[in-house]
Amino acid sequence: MFYIGCHLSSSGGYLAMGKQASEIGANTFQFFTRNPRGGAVKKFDPDDAAALVSYMKEHDFGKIVAHAPYTLNPASAEAKTREFADMVFADDIAILEHIPGSLYNFHPGSHVGQGVDVGIKYILEMLNKNMFSGMKTTVLLETMSGKGSEIGATFEELRTIIDGCEYKEHLGVCLDTCHISDGGYDVGDGLDETLEEFDKVIGLKRLHAIHLNDSKNPQGSHKDRHEKIGKGFIGLENIERIINHKYLADLPFELETPNELEGYAAEIELLKGLRK
Ligand code: FE
Ligand code: FE
Ligand code: ZN
Repeated sequence: MFYIGCHLSSSGGYLAMGKQASEIGANTFQFFTRNPRGGAVKKFDPDDAAALVSYMKEHDFGKIVAHAPYTLNPASAEAKTREFADMVFADDIAILEHIPGSLYNFHPGSHVGQGVDVGIKYILEMLNKNMFSGMKTTVLLETMSGKGSEIGATFEELRTIIDGCEYKEHLGVCLDTCHISDGGYDVGDGLDETLEEFDKVIGLKRLHAIHLNDSKNPQGSHKDRHEKIGKGFIGLENIERIINHKYLADLPFELETPNELEGYAAEIELLKGLRK
């Protein structure tokens, strides 16, 4: 099964996102749990979440991805910022437990000059405090581009976080194609080698989702500027290879390309045509 979808606005609620996904030809989707630049969350409606769960079953959806707000930085030097991250993380997980099997993706964080080791120590404090055995949500560390002091632009850093997590059976990785290309990994002719490297360092069983994006910048640029599918430095030929790769083909692919709904619908159709 090809699970393909895109980032959707959550402003209409949960069931509305499921229906909107169907309308644009998607069978998975990603959404922000709350305002991506702030933290406010609408009052959670468990009935709406239950309606989405039924809808997804009826329509053979793959797993969906909830994305934590960009303001969540558990690696911050500011205690206040870390406390906010802690609160948002716990709150989001509590909500997602109503949609069993969902994926909760977050940017590991920026260490803002304290160094990677201190940053990772703080990230682990948040994970070990708020994850729990038997949880139904899988938490995903997103691969980052290495912009500024971002943690998680190398597979090794993600591995260090996984190693320190007490609930690693519920922890995995979401691979963003734009970010790893910007981070210096080859997703073109070297895709096989990159995925072998991922397997060696992290383990492919930890890979749960793909953010499928082209990049406005060449490999290793550490910029994090997403481009429309086929319009950037990754290119359509390589994207075709990515969606058909034996290690990736069964995972949910989420588009985070600069598009409105119509643009997403067109990209989804294009990708379905390239799927073998
Ligand atoms: Fe992200
Ligand atoms: Fe992403
Ligand atoms: Zn990005």
